[in-house]
Amino acid sequence: MKSRTLDEINDKIENRTANVFTAQELKDLIRNENAPKFEDVDVVTTGTCGIMSGTAAIFHLDIFEPGIFKRAKNIYLNGVPGFTGPCPNEWLGSIDTIVYGTSHSKIDPDYGGGFLFKDIIEGNEIDIEVESNDGKKFFSNITIENIPRAEMIGTRMAFKNYTAFINPSNNQVSSIFNAIPMEGNFKSFSFSGCGDINPLQNDPNMNIIKKGSKVLLNGSEGLVLGNGTRSSINKPNLMLSADMCQMSTDYFGGFKTAEGPEIFDSVALSIPVLNENILNNLMVINKDINLPIADIQGRHLPLSETNYSNVWDGYDERPQFNENKCVNCNDCLVEERCPTFAYSNEKGNKKLDTEKCFGCGMCSYSCISGAFEMNTGLVSIRIDENDYDIPIACRQSDIRRAKSLTNKLKKMIENREFKI
Ligand code: SF4
Ligand code: SF4
Repeated sequence: MKSRTLDEINDKIENRTANVFTAQELKDLIRNENAPKFEDVDVVTTGTCGIMSGTAAIFHLDIFEPGIFKRAKNIYLNGVPGFTGPCPNEWLGSIDTIVYGTSHSKIDPDYGGGFLFKDIIEGNEIDIEVESNDGKKFFSNITIENIPRAEMIGTRMAFKNYTAFINPSNNQVSSIFNAIPMEGNFKSFSFSGCGDINPLQNDPNMNIIKKGSKVLLNGSEGLVLGNGTRSSINKPNLMLSADMCQMSTDYFGGFKTAEGPEIFDSVALSIPVLNENILNNLMVINKDINLPIADIQGRHLPLSETNYSNVWDGYDERPQFNENKCVNCNDCLVEERCPTFAYSNEKGNKKLDTEKCFGCGMCSYSCISGAFEMNTGLVSIRIDENDYDIPIACRQSDIRRAKSLTNKLKKMIENREFKI
């Protein structure tokens, strides 16, 4: 078996002679039956972007003057609750807090941790409400300038395998796995996962990606802390951590689901091609990756299956908005349902914010007059001798952001800004 050492690869990177591919570049070559040989590929950058419910942030907040209260008992940031401590910071006026990406604001049901984290890193002003141990309330405003330390921890991120969902019942079902309550009678399909560019799909036995590996989490260099919670040999995922202040808000944010706001993140990892076995694992393409399909009310019982080629290959990554096709409904379903608030219509000023768009497909599924065009595909399945063609209505992963982060990691490696 042909092999090379990590030092040899690092020497080539140093001499700018390393062949670094993004996973999407490699997969395109494989699909075109032009797969590179071992000699031609040194490093492959892989990535994923999607809802990652295990995300939390640890903040140290410099808020109040010392001596104002002994310790904080409760805290809300833009109405989103945080846990105070573990350090009580007695009489310092500063607060350590842990905030979940999935926590919901007590003020606005559509706002939560994911949106808050993005607001903080964008430098927006954040309203703070604190209740002290003796029951007094204190109010203030802060920005990122008052947060000397912010670390993101993902307790389970970048799952290798996901399940897609349909709703066979007659009633709509509310779940975090769809942006709106999922219509019954097999009317829509939701799924997660970036298929063949997903890191653990390319290193299924975790030979390379393991505790101590370096990661690009939302654009910030961080570490794999180990396996994530609920990780298993067949369904591995990762626990990750990185400095939030170094993150780019292009790569994370809030995502509204039928069960309230969640958070999405982007993760990229490099795979040094140390031997031919590692390259063989990298040869996986979307059609080889199974995607089980389950009832949204029973994800442990798959009803059917498809593969990632049927949900990604050849489909649109983003919608086109044709304003002239809009018939000005009294209540615009797109504005109501868009999970990232990318589409707005304020007093007739219709705007699709492409930076906020996640490519989920909910707009083309919902718009009654075809003003949003986006081919997200149909999944054909057979259940109990019946055939169904089910439209993909909600993607909970964003392939464009995932590709963007794998590209960023490739450039960082080539520019020697990220040491593998
Ligand atoms: S649902 Fe479509 S047609 Fe109706 S207002 Fe919204 S964008 Fe326009
Ligand atoms: S694809 Fe449509 S619904 Fe989804 S985030 Fe973009 S604009 Fe919003």
